[in-house]
Amino acid sequence: MAVCDICNIPGWGIPVSASVFRTAVQNGFCPFRLHLDNDMGIPNIRDTWRREALASHTDWNLCATCHSALQPYI
Ligand SMILES: [Zn+2]
Repeated sequence: MAVCDICNIPGWGIPVSASVFRTAVQNGFCPFRLHLDNDMGIPNIRDTWRREALASHTDWNLCATCHSALQPYI
């Protein structure tokens, strides 16, 4: 089943291409700082997430909430 790639809400949301998403991350988009995701107390999860997001070449599936949070960064 499809889930939002950021907050894991079930369902198909809005597709975002990998290159657009990388641009947003480079512009400072961070789901943990925006409280879209729970960091679960894992040390360095933000750095790890950012590195993996910048390396990803797979399109992202974002729910409406996460997609609107992304807009200022693209
Ligand atoms: Zn979401």
